[in-house]
Amino acid sequence: MTERLVVVGGDAAGMSAASPARRRRGPDDLEIVAFERGSTTSYSACGIPYWIGDVVSDRNRLISRHPATFRHSFAIDVRIRTEVEEIDLDRREVRARDLETGST
Ligand SMILES: Cc1cc2nc3c(=O)[nH]c(=O)nc-3n(C[C@H](O)[C@H](O)[C@H](O)COP(=O)(O)OP(=O)(O)OC[C@H]3O[C@@H](n4cnc5c(N)ncnc54)[C@H](O)[C@@H]3O)c2cc1C
Repeated sequence: MTERLVVVGGDAAGMSAASPARRRRGPDDLEIVAFERGSTTSYSACGIPYWIGDVVSDRNRLISRHPATFRHSFAIDVRIRTEVEEIDLDRREVRARDLETGST
């Protein structure tokens, strides 16, 4: 059975954990699922002041890697707008809610 790595949070820390894991182990060996309750991944909070201050006009320039890139180039199953509500370490289960549909 393929092992699964679950990552909670699709920003700097989460995707910095997921990407090297993918580099070390291929998709046939390790399934990687990353849950992010927001609508994107790897965004630069550092750049927000420049966006608010209109130094950077395009919000997309604050995003260093979009979910689609993680999916297609790194075979990381990024699930945006999905919030992890419960982690059961004993049962090795994660319960997550799709914030668009409300389903878990
Ligand atoms: C205005 C500003 C300027 C900054 N400037 C700098 C700088 O110049 N240099 C620097 O090094 N750092 C800077 N930082 C700090 C840097 O942005 C943070 O250290 C970095 O974003 C932390 O990344 P993280 O992934 O650990 O946490 P976060 O960025 O907080 O990411 C956590 C992610 O997890 C998601 N999440 C949380 N709980 C759940 C859940 N239950 N289910 C699903 N998703 C969940 C959140 O939506 C979020 O996207 C700045 C921060 C701000 C706000």
